[in-house]
Amino acid sequence: MIIGFIGLGNMGAPMAANLATAGHDVIGFDVAGTSARGVQNVGNITDAVKDADAVITMLPNGAILRAVADDILPAMKKGAVHIDCSTVDVDSARAAGDAANKHGILSVDAPVSGGVGGAENGTLTFMAGGSADAFALAAPLFEIMGQKAVHCGDIGAGQSAKICNNMILGITMIGTCEAFALADKLGLDRQKMFDVVSTSSGYSWTMNAYCPAPGVGPTSPADNDYKPGFAAELMLKDLRLSQQAAQASDAATPMGQAATELYEQFVEQEDGMGRDFSAMLPRFEKLGRNG
Ligand code: NAD
Repeated sequence: MIIGFIGLGNMGAPMAANLATAGHDVIGFDVAGTSARGVQNVGNITDAVKDADAVITMLPNGAILRAVADDILPAMKKGAVHIDCSTVDVDSARAAGDAANKHGILSVDAPVSGGVGGAENGTLTFMAGGSADAFALAAPLFEIMGQKAVHCGDIGAGQSAKICNNMILGITMIGTCEAFALADKLGLDRQKMFDVVSTSSGYSWTMNAYCPAPGVGPTSPADNDYKPGFAAELMLKDLRLSQQAAQASDAATPMGQAATELYEQFVEQEDGMGRDFSAMLPRFEKLGRNG
């Protein structure tokens, strides 16, 4: 296949490189001039997409996705597929899908989980929204870049699944960290706390697989001085998207809102920027009931 790849950043570059390694012709464009192994770079966005059977975008946010969609969709071949793998708001994903329809282009929103490591190793999980025909065109590419792709429903369903998952993740991480901080104050040994909770009803991915306490449980960013991993500011981005969606759909998400406010404070007023999202634990360690 000829594949246009727009947005060769931390995630996009290794994803594009994996497609090239698998034998596809990958033509790349990034405003920053970045490239990737095996990818042919071009100087303008239209040249990256005009002959492509599939165009993948991996961009920072919904506003940029909308602008890029305006540029690429009129230039693409009819019947080609646009696959957006960025994490964006549900409305922008739907707007890009509607615009694609008008131009006779198939469209899939397919945000990922797995981070830069998953992008490099081709082990991402894709959560996809779009028609069955569009998903069928994208599926072989998901197989190269990832290990699992779930077709979640119509356009926007991928972003919906991603922000619901990450809202649970943010809330659960905070709950796990505050429980460790309480256990400390109660004089409970952290290893004993892990041994009990990881096999009791408080267990979770954040406790069992990504434990925020250094030296406890499997190796995690806590054991590497809280270097990300999954940075606190990316968690904040996803929590904000969850609250934007909750507002737009009139959903009650009080815990999601509280988690958003805590990560906002951590990233914007404290030392959370650039640290793993599990660094909430040292944050709570320092606090008493009244701050
Ligand atoms: P990044 O900032 O490293 O890459 C984004 C790239 O898009 C940059 O290279 C930038 O120059 C390029 N870009 C911006 N505007 C452009 C335009 N108009 N035309 C062409 N290129 C343009 O970000 P990233 O870490 O690669 O993340 C990309 C997306 O994936 C984001 O939506 C992010 O939320 C999501 N995501 C990231 C991770 C992660 O761990 N980094 C994990 C899951 C999902």
